[in-house]
Amino acid sequence: MVATAKIPQRQLFIDGDWRAPALGRRLPVINPTTEASIGEIPAGTSEDVDAAVAAARAALKRNRGRDWSRAPGAVRAKYLRAIAAKMVERKSDLARLEALDCGKPLDEAAWDMDDVAGCFEFFAGHAEALDKRQNAAVALPENFKCHLKKEPIGVVALITPWNYPLLMAVWKVAPALAAGCTAVLKPSELASLTCLELGDVCKEIGLPSGVLNIVTGLGHEAGAPLSSHPDVDKVAFTGSYATGQKIMVAAAPTVKPVTLELGGKSPIVVFDDVDIDKAVEWTLFGCFWTNGQICSATSRLLIHKNIAKEFVDRMVAWSKNIKVSDPLEEGCRLGPVVSEGQYEKIKKFVANAKSEGATILTGGVRPKHLEKGFFIEPTIITDINTSMEIWREEVFGPVLCVKEFSTEEEAIELANDTHYGLAGAVISGDRERCQRLAEEIDAGCIWVNCSQPCFCQAPWGGNKRSGFGRELGEGGIDNYLSIKQVTEYTSDAPWGWYKAPAN
Ligand code: NAD
Repeated sequence: MVATAKIPQRQLFIDGDWRAPALGRRLPVINPTTEASIGEIPAGTSEDVDAAVAAARAALKRNRGRDWSRAPGAVRAKYLRAIAAKMVERKSDLARLEALDCGKPLDEAAWDMDDVAGCFEFFAGHAEALDKRQNAAVALPENFKCHLKKEPIGVVALITPWNYPLLMAVWKVAPALAAGCTAVLKPSELASLTCLELGDVCKEIGLPSGVLNIVTGLGHEAGAPLSSHPDVDKVAFTGSYATGQKIMVAAAPTVKPVTLELGGKSPIVVFDDVDIDKAVEWTLFGCFWTNGQICSATSRLLIHKNIAKEFVDRMVAWSKNIKVSDPLEEGCRLGPVVSEGQYEKIKKFVANAKSEGATILTGGVRPKHLEKGFFIEPTIITDINTSMEIWREEVFGPVLCVKEFSTEEEAIELANDTHYGLAGAVISGDRERCQRLAEEIDAGCIWVNCSQPCFCQAPWGGNKRSGFGRELGEGGIDNYLSIKQVTEYTSDAPWGWYKAPAN
């Protein structure tokens, strides 16, 4: 069983050092498995945000701008690789902290840490490649020549959620630093521990002070002043649609660019030409991984009517076999959801589905063997109609809705029956059909014969109310770069537009 949690007590990470929050306040860290407080994080406010932004601004320009923003990408890459190496070294401690803080199974948290290190390595490569992309010539008509400079946007605000606490932060921190930006990271108040440890790693490897600042705290007290801060040049946000709207509004007065990675209600379409058990496993993984708290969860199953009965029966049998336990217990595959608020919200979604006439086929309740903790059994809901809340709204918990279809056209129509457009999946033995669905589903990420695998080499992001912009991939670093054209008149002849005055 699980050892008593011991977590580091940290302050805010500002200008390369630990600093107590200006108002001296702290927030409890609740372990979702035990519901007990296991420590505290600092509660930053606008005073701390001001200090962090000022430190980031100073770091951008320190030494006449030569040490960070204008240093060759290869110099920054060394720091990113050093951080990656420390992440590997600290992997087991960080994974354990992550599991304690947000409830995700330890094996998944360990995967996250591999991805964290991989993401820093990936963007270190892009920082080096940036040097080769500098000063690209642009062909112009006679007498002119032009080259392009790719410059860091400046000070960036990075605001992130709790479902992959460190990984979502690093998806932003790594490309921002690779580009030469300096940053203020505001992690979720529900899971900030590993992000604060990132501060410790930055200190240990000697990242120049002020390049990365970390201000923990509540959304309205720390996130809001950061997203509207006049000295912040860009906001990169991952979180809910509702907060995404507020971020856009906050950024508008100073016309800051924003990228938004928001929620989803993604479909998975399963045809009748599949190996049922393989398809069942991907379907369950697509919705129940990360305790069901995945933006890209394929939480709407569209199943061909010819195999619907058998498929659903197998899903129920497989889902009863999922080990729901303390995330630190060996073999755990579903831990608690992150907080009491989230727990109550999910239970309400299930109750509303029932009262609207849906059938809760399995789950929807606390597992009998777990008396404490924010646990909900894997939940499968049938008898859905498309106006129901459970079909339309993001639950962000281990809840899968099932609907049958008869034709490919009907499946596509149902798949696109959503305001969101983050992801989609199709499972079929017919590759041409898979390609047709990949084209027709309106989303930023499509999985074929799988659901959820995500790699930093491929761009990530959504359409419609799932946001805009793409993180990761080849273009990931470009989110933090601004392009400057330098155009030169190369002729010795005068321009000759105006008449020269008589002497
Ligand atoms: P949230 O919107 O409640 O919070 C996200 C972050 O915004 C937190 O750090 C929070 O403190 C901060 N915040 C809250 N109010 C703010 C305000 N007024 N101004 C500035 N910042 C504010 O989201 P959450 O509950 O932490 O995360 C779950 C959501 O994130 C889900 O909708 C999920 O789909 C989405 N998500 C999307 C992706 C993606 O890649 N598209 C990835 C992970 C999570």
